[in-house]
Amino acid sequence: MNTETLIAKDRQFLWHPYSNTNANNPLFAVASAKGCRLTLTDGRELIDGMASWWCAVHGYNHPALNHAITEQLAKMAHVMFGGLTHAPAVTLAERLVAITPTGLDKVFLADSGSVSVEVALKMARQYWLAKKQPDKQSMLSFKQGYHGDTTGAMSVCDPDNGMHHLFSGSLGHNYFCAAPTPAFGVSTTEADLADVKDTLTQHHTNIAAVIIEPIVQGAGGMRFYSADFLRSLRQLCDEHNVLLIADEIATGFGRTGKLFACEHAGITPDILCLGKALTGGYMTLAATLCSNHIAETISRSEVGVLMHGPTFMGNPLACAVANASLDLLLNSAWQQQVSAIEKQLTAELAPLQNHSAVAEVRTLGAIGVVELKEPVNMQQVQPFIVEQGVWLRPFGKRLYTMPPFIITPNELTKITQAMIKTCDFIQADIAAR
Ligand code: PLP
Repeated sequence: MNTETLIAKDRQFLWHPYSNTNANNPLFAVASAKGCRLTLTDGRELIDGMASWWCAVHGYNHPALNHAITEQLAKMAHVMFGGLTHAPAVTLAERLVAITPTGLDKVFLADSGSVSVEVALKMARQYWLAKKQPDKQSMLSFKQGYHGDTTGAMSVCDPDNGMHHLFSGSLGHNYFCAAPTPAFGVSTTEADLADVKDTLTQHHTNIAAVIIEPIVQGAGGMRFYSADFLRSLRQLCDEHNVLLIADEIATGFGRTGKLFACEHAGITPDILCLGKALTGGYMTLAATLCSNHIAETISRSEVGVLMHGPTFMGNPLACAVANASLDLLLNSAWQQQVSAIEKQLTAELAPLQNHSAVAEVRTLGAIGVVELKEPVNMQQVQPFIVEQGVWLRPFGKRLYTMPPFIITPNELTKITQAMIKTCDFIQADIAAR
């Protein structure tokens, strides 16, 4: 199929993430990918600054990950997880317990990040039902938070920039506090904690858990906040008898410079959600971890079981590639790679701080964010970025990169240069209006 036909048939038959089927949004067909490069069907090569929505930390088409899948494929692609188990799942669970903050002991394997959030919410609710405190069923979450697109996950996303206005009738009642402050590296004051303190004091008898993205609020705002805030939140949850769910789907596996972002604050959540980079971006797999205490409390309840069990739970191919991805990560110099990316992003994006189209520039770990003054016009900006030979996917007012950890300094410079040119392009468009 040539490129034109492929795009035409895509427009005829497919629906893309958050897309309008009537608008001919810019669309690019990928033929293959290797390392940090995507090759389009028209032969163009793009340096990937997105790691496929933050997952492909080792780059694409990695021989070790390919090998893990094909080796597992020869044994079995899938087998049901009810009443059966297999080595890839057992190995993965044992390793996740070993590398995550101490106190997380049990692993529930889920199909995607959103599903792992659904499982976390269910765990928290079932825990309080088991404790005979049935009023504790609401969640507390934060403005500018994002936890996924399924119904339960949507109900704890930012109520304004999320999808509440559309689905408010079916989302149930949760509490929302001001987005965490201050910025990363700054100490918290009483004022930063006032909203969450007040809400917990007033409503803790109705709240099952607080759910938060540790240190980095991702898709809801690309904000980096203080480790102090997270540390105090852990304390407040304990004081008010409320569980803490850390959603590390975006931050897990090194992205912020620590293996898990909770480590910046030295805390252990009661429940932890992992996904995205878990399989190095190869397959959809996520995990919800909890303490033995939570697992045992639910298991001793009248119901006696955690009420979840998807068909493709613990898929052996996905678990095998996740194990291979962990081998690659943990045997690599990922800390040095992420720290070098942070330094380079900080230096090369610094000139944008004074750019007239830019409100703020921030970097943390392998994340570089340019907050613009106006939302990006994707119809114009996406093709412009591709013309620069890179792949970036801005959203709202955020032009950002979260590249694979294996990106070379030269490739990263191409990305930062494209970001600078994109800001110039946006400013020229604003000036011409
Ligand atoms: N939680 C966080 C923090 C995320 O960043 C995302 C996805 O971007 C999700 C949950 C949802 O994960 P998925 O898209 O795999 O369902």
